[in-house]
Amino acid sequence: MTKQVDLDRQPLTHWDGPLGLPDFSRIDDGDFGPVFDAALAAHQADIDAIAGNPEAPTIENTFVAMELSGDPLDRVSSIFWCKAGANTNDRIQTMEREIAPKMSRHYSAISMNEKLFARIDDLHARRASLGLDAETLRLVEKSWKGFVKSGAKLDAAGKARLAAINEELSSLGTTFGQNLLADEKEWVMFLGEDDLAGLPEFLTGAMAGAAESRGRKGEYAVTLSRSIYEPFTTFSERRDLREKAFMAFINRGGMGGATDNGAVVASMLALRSEKAKLLGYGSYAALKLDDTMAKTPGAVFELLEPVWEKAREKAAADEAQLQGLASEAGSNEKLAAWDWRFYQERLRARKYAFDEAELKPYLQLDQVIAACFDVATRLFGVTFAEKQDIAAWHPDVRVFEVLNADGSRRGLFLADYFARPSKRSGAWMSSLQSGYRLGEGSSPIIYNIMNFAKPPAGEPALLSLDEAKTLFHEFGHALHGLLTEAYWPSQSGTSVSRDFVELPSQLYEHWLTVPAVLEKFARHYRTGEAMPHALLDKMLAASTLDAGFRTVEFTSSALVDMAYHSQQDAPADPKEFEAETLARLGMPETIVMRHRTPQFGHVFAGDGYSAGYYSYMWSEVLDADAFSAFEETGDPFNPEIATKLKKHIYAAGGSADPEVLYTAFRGKMPTPDAMMAKRGLS
Ligand SMILES: [Zn+2]
Repeated sequence: MTKQVDLDRQPLTHWDGPLGLPDFSRIDDGDFGPVFDAALAAHQADIDAIAGNPEAPTIENTFVAMELSGDPLDRVSSIFWCKAGANTNDRIQTMEREIAPKMSRHYSAISMNEKLFARIDDLHARRASLGLDAETLRLVEKSWKGFVKSGAKLDAAGKARLAAINEELSSLGTTFGQNLLADEKEWVMFLGEDDLAGLPEFLTGAMAGAAESRGRKGEYAVTLSRSIYEPFTTFSERRDLREKAFMAFINRGGMGGATDNGAVVASMLALRSEKAKLLGYGSYAALKLDDTMAKTPGAVFELLEPVWEKAREKAAADEAQLQGLASEAGSNEKLAAWDWRFYQERLRARKYAFDEAELKPYLQLDQVIAACFDVATRLFGVTFAEKQDIAAWHPDVRVFEVLNADGSRRGLFLADYFARPSKRSGAWMSSLQSGYRLGEGSSPIIYNIMNFAKPPAGEPALLSLDEAKTLFHEFGHALHGLLTEAYWPSQSGTSVSRDFVELPSQLYEHWLTVPAVLEKFARHYRTGEAMPHALLDKMLAASTLDAGFRTVEFTSSALVDMAYHSQQDAPADPKEFEAETLARLGMPETIVMRHRTPQFGHVFAGDGYSAGYYSYMWSEVLDADAFSAFEETGDPFNPEIATKLKKHIYAAGGSADPEVLYTAFRGKMPTPDAMMAKRGLS
């Protein structure tokens, strides 16, 4: 007997907490299973009613009804995936393995519902004569194409096979992510006082905290969290320890045994390739890119190849310089991959006479948050008011009310900044509720997750420049969700193509280093003094110092991703394929991909960025070009440009084709010149 679930009363689906949030204090993890079942059944009933409607299809009885269906399922899903990412436990992990394939089955069944598709097909065929506005026309066309790509035109056997493939892919994606998390949690290197040569105070503090949380008070732990691993390999004078940490980091997910992702990846590639063939595409990349701004794998290679060549040239020149530094420091060894960050930091220190750690005291977490908010106020007129004592999924979560210029409420912003073992690594934005105007309308509830090292009680959290950029980046995504004016729910906020979705986030990073912003917010945490001009200028000059390294790290990952997915037949041995591809590309021996295959979560922990990792760079072309629009006027807050930016990019969501939106904002399509210049590669 399953327990009766009343979706109108259940706290997972009926949100009666403060400010319209779920009442997290009443949420019991044991309820997810039965509530999911009830919500899935309710959504299915909605869909059946739409599909079985005896009246002729209309926009109202088909599209409006579909867009408004499944509200309880959206609610329970958004809470579940939020907890699965940001505050998981064994119980939730077990349920993830059950729920992921169930959801996949559910949505496959909808997209293969023949009666439903017949209605959409009919409306699609008559679309030109229905007098539709542009947004609705786009909705009809995109939905129709989505159904076709989901197999609506396949025969019964084809449909069954496609459903099985999707289900298996979704469950393999979950396994991939869990294997990676297991390896990241498992590996730790405990150090004593004698092993800390070169390490700055902020890092030893974080390492002491990490050791203490693992029951080894008084020691120092190197973990595989990027916020410890990266500074450790940047500053540690102990080459042997850098090598150990480096090897562990690049082998995550590929260490053999039960958590090895090798076979998982091979199966996923084979299934993706089969799926593409079934749907009539030449490769999985061709299938994935069909509705992006880039549109074809060829266009992606065209963008990446010149960047790759420039980046390799720059990295080769940099490597020679770093080798010189190493010899000077008395090392006879050939520069290795675990030496790059270390000597780059030395070079930075010499050339610009400061080290990265000098910046940290000026980058307090709270001040960087305040800077993010202030920029949003100056550009877009929205303000943020923190609400105290509101329970969310973890006590560290902070809740902010977002207000329009006239004081009316726009939505909520929740932020969860610190790393903990129950959170997966990385930084991301997502929503508990999206904003749209259809029906009674809905105001957005958006959140950001970060993984900054938590300081000891009473100490302020200090960020590296990279971490501060990440915070601006995710906040840019949050604004895309918060500023939305979309009419249709499925066109809300970040519901845009992969190679466009990073524009609002990467563009927002530019304002972190606007001098007026730094002068106001980058203040020393002890003395309150502004970051000295000399340090600021050096920092800006130094920001392109590692462009060769960073671009090679990134572009190699993007090229390998595209190589995997643009094959007609999937490679049987991904490890070999990765090595061959890198050799063919001329990958520098001393640099490793930013994400090696067994830890490439963007591409394998789900389907989000498969054949899509390039899109960060595609968006970088857009963001550099977009920021130039402000620079050309000499005012980084130019109100006229800001108004256009809000209207055509941040508020527009997926209401029009990205090319159309971008051109409306900028007056023309972008060129890669500003991106190359920004990276120091021109
Ligand atoms: Zn992003």
